[in-house]
Amino acid sequence: KYYEPLKVGFQPANSGGKIPLGLKRKGLRIVVTGGAGFVGSHLVDRLIARGDSVTVVDNFFTGRKENVMHHFKNPRFELIRHDVVEPLLLEVDQIYHLACPASPVHYKHNPVKTIKTNVVGTLNMLGLAKRVGARFLLTSTSEVYGDPLQHPQVETYWGNVNPIGVRSCYDEGKRTAETLAMDYHRGASVEVRIARIFNTYGPRMCIDDGRVVSNFVAQALRKEPLTVYGDGKQTRSFQFVSDLVEGLMRLMEGEHVGPFNLGNPGEFTMLELAQVVQETIDPNARIEFKPNTEDDPHKRKPDITKAKDLLGWEPKIPLRKGLPMMVSDFRQRIFGDHKEEGT
Ligand code: NAD
Ligand code: UDP
Ligand code: UDP
Repeated sequence: KYYEPLKVGFQPANSGGKIPLGLKRKGLRIVVTGGAGFVGSHLVDRLIARGDSVTVVDNFFTGRKENVMHHFKNPRFELIRHDVVEPLLLEVDQIYHLACPASPVHYKHNPVKTIKTNVVGTLNMLGLAKRVGARFLLTSTSEVYGDPLQHPQVETYWGNVNPIGVRSCYDEGKRTAETLAMDYHRGASVEVRIARIFNTYGPRMCIDDGRVVSNFVAQALRKEPLTVYGDGKQTRSFQFVSDLVEGLMRLMEGEHVGPFNLGNPGEFTMLELAQVVQETIDPNARIEFKPNTEDDPHKRKPDITKAKDLLGWEPKIPLRKGLPMMVSDFRQRIFGDHKEEGT
């Protein structure tokens, strides 16, 4: 009864997003940094559908208004053009901190900006979480394991990362972001959650972002050769975006800080991935080998025992089921609504 007067967006700050036991949840005020990007926009859809009020904070470096435009008329949705490297004042209950380019092509484009985003941007959002007592979730990455010497990777593995390489702005930036989150947790009692995300794909990925799944799908649709870097024997494990979003929300709502690996353990070489893309889009798609990029990790596969045990989470959508959903989105965006495969 005492909970009745609470309206959407009316939850007191300092609640840390916690709802007293036995009471039906009302909408929370949630910030999603990077919410106009690929993963962020899918997360926003779920939060809005659940009844929360969502403020997206994005500088549109790799994000697009089109990804969240369908919420523009919803009074529970707000979009702020803002760079997280600058301080920000808001009153909120939870912060999902995703702002950071994820594709190697994008994060290498301006490496110093990438470090600033990861370090200063994360510091600012943690400062905000501390001030208002919000719960804070960091989207870290499997890249913190670098070129791993343990396989599959467990959260207790400390990684094998080059501190002075071309990928370091991202790997080391995210490692520092994790450090900051833990220090705010230990030193300032901020409720933090850390997700280590493995390669994720799905609708709304930038078409030309240089990541392997988006590259292969766009190439096959455009009848261009699939560009396999190196010998194509390196592996990755690909997770469909809706599985990730479910994992992020369970992590935020649960009682465990983490870090948690969130990924699909289904592991593929890049040549096997090319084959799945051929089967899905065009069996005649050609493969073209190109030189690999510097410091490319040889293999990557999550051990997700911890997330299964403590969050009750595991991915549901295998690559062969997820890929077609991404392909229809890419087909629409590349050709427009009516163009069919092979025409
Ligand atoms: P994305 O590039 O599509 O989205 C990132 C968003 O952050 C974009 O909307 C971009 O405009 C915004 N952004 C970047 N710098 C910013 C800044 N300084 N201030 C405000 N906004 C900024 O990438 P994504 O795939 O959606 O990734 C989201 C998060 O998940 C990232 O933190 C990424 O490191 C992490 N992650 C993703 C994957 C993956 O495979 N997709 C894997 C591991 C980790
Ligand atoms: N900060 C912010 N919004 C807030 C509170 C803090 O952007 O609502 C920024 C603040 O500008 C600072 C960072 O977060 O750069 C860390 O803040 P904190 O209070 O932890 O540290 P301090 O300001 O004492 O350095
Ligand atoms: N890759 C590839 N062809 C491409 C793009 C990437 O073979 O057109 C390879 C790349 O060398 C790496 C793997 O695919 O081994 C995954 O690359 P991506 O950039 O998608 O993600 P990350 O390296 O961050 O895991």
